[in-house]
Amino acid sequence: MWTEIATHISKVTGKTFEIQNRRSVSGGCINQGYAVSGDSETYFVKLNRASQIEMFEAEALGLKQMLETNTIRVPKPMGVGTAGDSAYIVMEWLEFGGSGNTQAWEEMGRNLAQMHRAKPPQPSGKQGFGWDVNNTIGSTPQINSWTSDWAEFFAEHRLGYQFKLARRRGGQFPEAERLLAQVPKLLDHQPQPSLVHGDLWGGNAAITKLGEPVILDPATYVGDREVDIAMTELFGGFPAAFYRGYNEEWSLDEGYGQRKQLYNLYHILNHFNLFGGGYDSQATRMIEQILR
Ligand code: ADP
Repeated sequence: MWTEIATHISKVTGKTFEIQNRRSVSGGCINQGYAVSGDSETYFVKLNRASQIEMFEAEALGLKQMLETNTIRVPKPMGVGTAGDSAYIVMEWLEFGGSGNTQAWEEMGRNLAQMHRAKPPQPSGKQGFGWDVNNTIGSTPQINSWTSDWAEFFAEHRLGYQFKLARRRGGQFPEAERLLAQVPKLLDHQPQPSLVHGDLWGGNAAITKLGEPVILDPATYVGDREVDIAMTELFGGFPAAFYRGYNEEWSLDEGYGQRKQLYNLYHILNHFNLFGGGYDSQATRMIEQILR
């Protein structure tokens, strides 16, 4: 398998690449990560079962589209394939572990706002919100059917879909239907379609040793930019400098504070579907707060 991956890299770069050194990189939630090095270059490789190839194809497409906005640093995708029982994605290696000073976080905020403001990639004839393919959030499918109305998209393909999975898992959300019926009123702010990262928790944002802010491991689609900002606040928040940079570049719209909870409910329901535990009671509390 590693020989096939090395051959793939050689083909893409036009330069013979032979793996001299390979080490496992920890920190991933879903896949096994590796740093593979030749004489002078290093690449980052993630592996999963061959059946998961579409997940890597969607990740590579998301990284490519984010890269093409020329706004925020993401690892450049180099290739996706299968070898034997495994699927792999290869991307540029980035040396993380920068100190993450104020300046870098401000820049991350500014760059993200620029990505959100860039013209989103929408295939001809498609408008509004969605994406070219379905992808995954964690390992849960994320449905991206193009929909012109944002509230309809979020109610059906985000919350509605997670509620459906949660019920199958035994979750009881008696107020789910009432909440879904309220979504058009809660999301009546007419956001412009933005390319979003889609899974922007702290583990998916990092600073390189050179001080460059990077976002990685996306669950990309075209949606309301506020979903990204809401998620940064879900598990403790990013440094204040990040929000300063973001708002300097493109300030958040009025009412974001109310919508945030609804947007983050999606991720809590997904956590229930992935991990169970107490996430159903957390989701229930959030629903009650939103409906209050
Ligand atoms: P998973 O898809 O399993 O969640 P991630 O994409 O989050 O995996 O990657 C796992 C870890 O590997 C990250 O937290 C980060 O430390 C490291 N990593 C990810 N991408 C790169 C990269 N391009 N270069 C160097 N290290 C990386």
